[in-house]
Amino acid sequence: MNLPIVEKAPAQATSAAALLARYTVPNYGRLDLVPDRGEGVWLWDESGRQYLDFAGGVAVTSLGHCPPALTRTFAEQSTKLIHCSNWYQIRGQGELGQFITETVMETPGKSIFCNSGAEANEALIKLARKFGHATPLADGTPRTHIITFNNSFHGRTYATISATGQEKVKVGFAPLLPGFTHVPYNDTAAFLAALQDDTVAILIEPVQGEGGVNMATAEFLRAIQKVCQERNILLLFDEVQSGLGRLGHWCGWKPIAPEIIPDGVSWAKGIGGGFPIGAAWIRKRPINSTSDAIDLCDVLGPGSHGTTYGGSPLACAVALAVLHEIRDSALCENSATIGSEIRETVTSWQHPLIHTVRGLGLLIGFELDPAALAQRTAYRESDGLASIYIVKALMAEGLLTVAAGPLVVRWLPPLNVTRTEVQTALAIFKRVLDTQLTA
Ligand SMILES: *Cc1c(COP(=O)(O)O)cnc(C)c1O
Repeated sequence: MNLPIVEKAPAQATSAAALLARYTVPNYGRLDLVPDRGEGVWLWDESGRQYLDFAGGVAVTSLGHCPPALTRTFAEQSTKLIHCSNWYQIRGQGELGQFITETVMETPGKSIFCNSGAEANEALIKLARKFGHATPLADGTPRTHIITFNNSFHGRTYATISATGQEKVKVGFAPLLPGFTHVPYNDTAAFLAALQDDTVAILIEPVQGEGGVNMATAEFLRAIQKVCQERNILLLFDEVQSGLGRLGHWCGWKPIAPEIIPDGVSWAKGIGGGFPIGAAWIRKRPINSTSDAIDLCDVLGPGSHGTTYGGSPLACAVALAVLHEIRDSALCENSATIGSEIRETVTSWQHPLIHTVRGLGLLIGFELDPAALAQRTAYRESDGLASIYIVKALMAEGLLTVAAGPLVVRWLPPLNVTRTEVQTALAIFKRVLDTQLTA
């Protein structure tokens, strides 16, 4: 019998791009950069070229690349214990949960750990459904309907693409998980109209990251909270991108509507500073008004949910080190201050290519003016979206950023970025935009 022959790559085809093209699934549109090493806000490619990294692995490297606070913990914990199992009492999960409840949320509640943002949202979605079975309609029908928002992004698993309010993540994957309705963001009337008798939860990003750096208004969040309280509906914040200092506060909704207390919150991205870990926090409050009701944070009981890797001793130690560093170096404050300085500076340019400047803290979106760009020959001759076109132009000049939708260039520098580093980035940004005017 002839076994199929795996052809070895020819010697000249061992560039990263050639290896990826040959041996990995083509599910990412990748830029032409081969990362090699990083330090702080700086990233070097394999040819030794240096970049100022304001993409931050898409809001993941919250302390910059390979920060000492993290690598030290990593080294120590990785020689002590990397993984065991959730069959045992993992002390780090208790300590991380304590930090989240006492310092981040400042509200009684409990946490559950996993490995990514999608998984953290899965936990909240499963919580919502289990809660809806425990608090059914008068005729016993479980409440299962969940409202999310247009242009939202909640992840790539089946539940989370079903929750995501963007067609592009769903194409070709039907049938999806039923029971989700997407409503225009910041449209209170549309939200109220979408409520059903069996609505059990609202899942919302305080600022939509992937969807184009769109900020929720205080009125909108307050209208949602009011309905949630009146109808015992769960208010769930997806803080995977916006949480833990990114918006200038531990809690991304607090710069918008500080009094709101959600029933659940999901985190990932920045929490591990680059090490994969996700978390969901669930509020301690009775599931309904009956006196013997159990608490919401205990609805996911033994055996109801879990993951092998979730909350390993290494992941928890690293996440705690990241959160301690954010607290001890006042990085929420740095994020708030530096973020508004960046927005003020770019706004003051009144640059013809920039239509609006949006964001909070260090989640910043520059929406380009497509009409102004369309007059540029180089742009017309490129086949890409306006955002990608500018992201590539910035990369060519040594500044890494990320697109958020077709028109928005997003900056996600580390939370400890300095004014000097920001000035370098602003100079590159200005130069690249000005070059477009003459191209
Ligand atoms: C990135 C992101 C997710 C998904 O996180 P993964 O770790 O990629 O699964 C979910 N929600 C929001 C708001 C995100 O930005």
